[in-house]
Amino acid sequence: MATATTTAHKRVDIRRNDTVKVMTGRDRGKEGRVLRVFPDESKVLVEHVMMIKKTMSAKRNPKVKGGIAEQESKMSIANVALVCGTCGPVRIGHEVRGDRKVRVCKKCGTTLDK
Ligand SMILES: [Zn+2]
Repeated sequence: MATATTTAHKRVDIRRNDTVKVMTGRDRGKEGRVLRVFPDESKVLVEHVMMIKKTMSAKRNPKVKGGIAEQESKMSIANVALVCGTCGPVRIGHEVRGDRKVRVCKKCGTTLDK
């Protein structure tokens, strides 16, 4: 693949509320719902994936007991695959249905847009 020099119109095929599977990295194999998409960074926030521990300071917020809270951290879109209900993690294709462009499963052809 040629190196993209332009940042305009970066195509992101993952959307909020999609179910994705983590393909590489520490959380490989995990599935989760996409909480947020960051198209400019090509990153996503996936529920219960890439959890990081965050120290809660009792000094900063007296109402919070000091301790450790866990939260999701952003991960690269390249490391996740959209999950097709029939096939599992798949590559995404595109098709025009009527006047709408939809995402389809490359394996079975099912529309992945709700
Ligand atoms: Zn499929």
